[in-house]
Amino acid sequence: MATGTLHIDLDAIAANWAALDAKTSVETAAVVKADGYGLRADKVALRLTRAGVRRFFVATAEEGIRLRAALGHGFEINVFSGHMDGDTPLIREAGLIPMLNSAEQVTRHRVALPGAAYGVQLDSGMNRLGMEPADWATLRSDLEAGPLTLVMSHLACADEPAHPMNPAQLACFTEMTAGVTVPRSLAATGGVLLGPDYQFDLCRPGVGLYGGFPFADATPVVRLSLPVIQVRDVSAGETVGYGAGWTAERKSKIATLSAGYADGLIRYMSDKALLWAGDTPCKLAGRVSMDLLTVDVSTLDEVPDHLDILGPHQTVDQLADEAATIGYEILTSLGPRYARRYSGDAA
Ligand SMILES: *Cc1c(COP(=O)(O)O)cnc(C)c1O
Repeated sequence: MATGTLHIDLDAIAANWAALDAKTSVETAAVVKADGYGLRADKVALRLTRAGVRRFFVATAEEGIRLRAALGHGFEINVFSGHMDGDTPLIREAGLIPMLNSAEQVTRHRVALPGAAYGVQLDSGMNRLGMEPADWATLRSDLEAGPLTLVMSHLACADEPAHPMNPAQLACFTEMTAGVTVPRSLAATGGVLLGPDYQFDLCRPGVGLYGGFPFADATPVVRLSLPVIQVRDVSAGETVGYGAGWTAERKSKIATLSAGYADGLIRYMSDKALLWAGDTPCKLAGRVSMDLLTVDVSTLDEVPDHLDILGPHQTVDQLADEAATIGYEILTSLGPRYARRYSGDAA
């Protein structure tokens, strides 16, 4: 087989959820947007229901309808983008709960689906999604009189515990929601780790479930193994890859692996990222191409049939550092060509 294998440990995801849940005394939901951060929302969510999760969050109603098909009824599916034009049939059919972000969305939801549940997303300072304090002040009593399930907001800097935005947003959210009787939620993964002041009634971690920063104690979830297609010797002075970008300083051995930027191994990793043959690191030699990587395996006595680019030696965040990005982007870029193999899947 010439495609890489992405091993996904669903038990590790459940363990990460339980470890985050243990840091709070309130309900812990799960964010499975972007197809479960690239790992398949249906598999992840089904495993998490067995761990005790009852509420899920997705980005769009389209994601919500697919998740409902996988989960069946009895679980709450909340949609961060709220009630967009065209969402009505999806929200109705799948019983989704939109997090209403604006007066316009409030009107759309009430006209299209009178009596249908909703949450409200407030802007406490990130200026991305949610009602501004003035909108909320105008609409609040009316919204509270209806089937309101949740009032939430999102932290911009929760992965930097000392950032002054954290207490500023906490104060803003606390003030905006004073006297609210429905559950309140401010914390994603970073917010859970900021402690009880930030946890309110419901936490909604995403990346920590999948083993990513800022949950430093997470159990690793993914291992990505790439098959070696060919191995060759190159002499000192020969070059490797597009642009002849890497030159052998001495006689070297180059392995060509099946995966490239079309699979989420972005070109910026060229000449920098490490792959692992068991415990031995081997560096990328030359540019990442669309379907192939070239790796300097000169130190190996024997070249194995696979090298790992993610696994116990290299987390998504460590690989992200080599690519000037973040673990979230590495995870959600892992392409459709990999064979996804799940452990911990059995009912
Ligand atoms: C993505 C997202 C989350 C989850 O954030 P993580 O940092 O992955 O834990 C929670 N809430 C909102 C509004 C989000 O967009």
